[in-house]
Amino acid sequence: MDVPAKKSNKKSKLTKGITGDWEVVIGMEVHAQVTSQAKLFSGASTAFGGEANSHVSLVDAAMPGMLPVINAECMRQAVRTGLGLKAKINPKSVFDRKNYFYPDLPQGYQISQYKQPIVGEGEVTIDMPDGETVRVGIERLHLEQDAGKLLHEQHPNMSLVDLNRSGVALMEIVTKPDLRTADEAKAFLAKLRSVLRYLGTCDGDMEKGNFRADVNVSVRKLGAPLGTRCEIKNVNSIRFVGQAIEHEARRQIDIIEDGGKIEQETRLFDPDKSETRSMRTKEEAHDYRYFPDPDLLPLELSPSLIADLQKNLPELPDAKKARFMRDYALSGYDADVLVAEREMAEYFETVVKGGSAGARRDPKLAANWVINELFGRLNREGEDITTAPVSAEQLGVILDLMGDGTISGKIAKDVFEIVWTEGGDPRAIVEARGLRQVTDLGAIEKIVDDIVGKNPDKVADAKANPKAIGWFVGQAMKASGGKANPQAVNELLRKKLGL
Ligand code: ADP
Ligand code: MG
Repeated sequence: MDVPAKKSNKKSKLTKGITGDWEVVIGMEVHAQVTSQAKLFSGASTAFGGEANSHVSLVDAAMPGMLPVINAECMRQAVRTGLGLKAKINPKSVFDRKNYFYPDLPQGYQISQYKQPIVGEGEVTIDMPDGETVRVGIERLHLEQDAGKLLHEQHPNMSLVDLNRSGVALMEIVTKPDLRTADEAKAFLAKLRSVLRYLGTCDGDMEKGNFRADVNVSVRKLGAPLGTRCEIKNVNSIRFVGQAIEHEARRQIDIIEDGGKIEQETRLFDPDKSETRSMRTKEEAHDYRYFPDPDLLPLELSPSLIADLQKNLPELPDAKKARFMRDYALSGYDADVLVAEREMAEYFETVVKGGSAGARRDPKLAANWVINELFGRLNREGEDITTAPVSAEQLGVILDLMGDGTISGKIAKDVFEIVWTEGGDPRAIVEARGLRQVTDLGAIEKIVDDIVGKNPDKVADAKANPKAIGWFVGQAMKASGGKANPQAVNELLRKKLGL
């Protein structure tokens, strides 16, 4: 007997070509600026947006004879990040000089880590919307200096140099080639950024350039060895990462199906045209003449330092999501949305835990209001949870007023709107504006009698077709200014209409 293959509801990860299906292989190198007051090897400030060349020490300007001194906080931040990525922390790492010339690099080399990085292999898991969990291997994390910036638009026939960024600490986080679609790559970046923000080790602000990704893309037929990759440099938004991958995969498939060969090269993504362009042929490690920096001793970490940092890690998104699903019986989807940012998760928990006398509020109801009303509104207005006009305490009181029948769900939304625009105590707002739900049966009966008396034709309709009762409910709610208890209205109407 023929058994039909079980239909999978999972979206295919393959890309169609004229010679069949292709698998896209993606690996990323993320440059994350370390959150720290001072630079990696100098005491100069890392503040963003200062006047050009106002945060530059003699070390950052590479004056002769200056000596770099490792910033202990940057080192701790890298270890924290490694621990958050469930990675191996290397007790001994080495700083190397990566030699190249560029006008924004006065040293003539970048201090980086090459053969012995501070953090080894780790892992990030991502939960895709179709329910699949994708594990992305982390190859390594190393510390390195950022370069300065060339300013091309300040002068008609000269480029100027701003060294404020010179020497700021970066973590380069390199993944294994474990990603298979643009959506997975985007979800990976969002998850990595979320973990770094929870840890407080990187602000993750792509607009300010403190979280940027180089994306490596190759294509192959299923089961074939890895294809030749192209690296797309410095893509600065998650959306652009998705576009760059899709464009680049298509470009490579077309070349191979045309009988051509992929050259390993570095490409640039042009967001205006949504395409990638060749920048240079790929450089090799030996082009940089790496050697250990003679001004810096190998970095040795004591087991007690690592253990101490481990002990003080915050609860991270995966653990928080599991706890929310377990303790609050939330769906994976709701939990994902709530834990994406630490501040959002805290807001939700304050609503749940802050009931009167420490009573717990209904988590599912709280999640619905936080996700739909609050986040929905924040998104529409481009606002941020940290400046939400309705506090967790205020939202909690609105839920209480709804829970004890003081106001209906519809009025609760009105009260939310009033608190959002005018502020104030929801309880006082309900009293001052007379928004209490009318549960006084006598008052509701008067309204119902009035409508029934004035509309004999509609009464006949309702007797013939009980669904027509909806019209009466609507009229009664309207007449009460939305304040009548809908259940009482319904019951009274059924009685009066003999349904
Ligand atoms: P390089 O510095 O030469 O770019 P790295 O080792 O720093 O090399 O980074 C290599 C990146 O490219 C990693 O993210 C890795 O996962 C990815 N990668 C390696 N081979 C492939 C391939 N065939 N296709 C796609 N990505 C790849
Ligand atoms: Mg690289």
